[in-house]
Amino acid sequence: MNEQDTEKMACLLSSKGMDRIQDANNADIVIVNTCCIREKAEQKFYSLMGRLRKIKRRKELILGVTGCIAQQEKDTIGKRLPFIDFSLGPSSIHMIAEAVDLASRKDRFFDFSDNGCAASLLVEPGNAGQKVKTSVTIMKGCNNFCSYCIVPYVRGREVSRNSVDILREITNLSMNGVKEVTLLGQNVNSYNKGRDDLSFPDLLKGINAIDGIKRIRFITSHPRDLSIELIECFGSLNKLCESIHLPFQAGSDRILKSMNRGYTIEEYRKKIVLLRQRCPDMAITSDCIVGFPGEGEEDFEMTMNLVKDIRFHNLFSFVYSPRKHTAASILPDAVSRELAFERLACLQQYQKSITIEYNKSMEGRLEEVLVEDRSKNSGEEMTGRTRTNKIVNFQGSSDMIGNFVEVEIVKGYANSLKGEMRKPSGGNTC
Ligand code: SAH
Ligand code: SF4
Repeated sequence: MNEQDTEKMACLLSSKGMDRIQDANNADIVIVNTCCIREKAEQKFYSLMGRLRKIKRRKELILGVTGCIAQQEKDTIGKRLPFIDFSLGPSSIHMIAEAVDLASRKDRFFDFSDNGCAASLLVEPGNAGQKVKTSVTIMKGCNNFCSYCIVPYVRGREVSRNSVDILREITNLSMNGVKEVTLLGQNVNSYNKGRDDLSFPDLLKGINAIDGIKRIRFITSHPRDLSIELIECFGSLNKLCESIHLPFQAGSDRILKSMNRGYTIEEYRKKIVLLRQRCPDMAITSDCIVGFPGEGEEDFEMTMNLVKDIRFHNLFSFVYSPRKHTAASILPDAVSRELAFERLACLQQYQKSITIEYNKSMEGRLEEVLVEDRSKNSGEEMTGRTRTNKIVNFQGSSDMIGNFVEVEIVKGYANSLKGEMRKPSGGNTC
């Protein structure tokens, strides 16, 4: 979501004649787009601001802070970071050009308004970078208030984008060479809830009908709201790829209740069964938090058991990080950091073995790969993904970028697959 916001701001500024560069030392304007989902992101932000302050002492520099930390610290950020020139919350990023313009005239600018306003949603980053795949925001904010999560406080309530705008944007992207789109929202299953517009499955059907688009993905789904209708889209919509990210967060009902997740582990397991009935080879990934307040040995065992039973293709696991404003931040029975990190290591070690097993089991298989770029690790290799979202590196040439090729998987590693190209690929299958 943050990357997409960064793209939107870059697009607005490039339309004013500015170029994007990577090195802050050579920049005239530096914008730090922030995340505060966990404490570590905040710590990194403040140390980066220290480094940027030193650069600003040496040369003329406009420095701005945008995103979730800005929103969270809206009452104090101007005082706490007196050297910044502007700051915008996530719902105000459409004002980036105005903020830069005012700052260049030595006028500090701050805006953290939300008001259910969807102007930031209307910004379309386009495909200036000539990418093969891109993300498209379909909604912003979240109404779920999971007790540990700061998102509803910094990104506001849910607002869905009109389906007409989304379909038009994706049609334009397809005409500019984009083959794969990932639809973004904190809970895409709530898309257009209570509004007289397309449901999420109907939106998928509309995108499936766009000629140039060959692959569709979405992120993130809330398990409570994953409907039968959406599950049925897998396998029936030929462009919808066989992968889903479905965060479970905890394996114990007691902890799930305290997290305010709105489902039981039994209900979660049933949805996984339905997904696998629909599409047996689907790659299911998840998120999970360990060390949530009150998490005992038994609760953690249940998380481990779930991970062992379901066998996720990948798992993003985090130690619970108390966040300002959230209900969980005042819960008793904190788990010590030491124990939480022990549990995390145990979980991650187990998951790594499952991921490697899956990847090894793909050796010898032929896979359709959408070629995205040169591999970062080896200049001679190309990189792309399977429909199940696995990274594949293989010998190839730059003229393949944007094409589908058929690749035989010859080696499965922990984070990627090594392949050998057999031939340019054809259709899409489930
Ligand atoms: N909307 C998505 C999640 C967005 S945040 C969803 O509901 O699935 C991404 C992940 O960060 C969450 O799934 C959760 O596992 C983790 N996370 C969020 N808040 C956290 C916190 N306070 N401490 C640790 N992990 C957290
Ligand atoms: Fe946060 Fe829960 Fe909303 Fe996801 S669904 S963004 S975890 S409040």
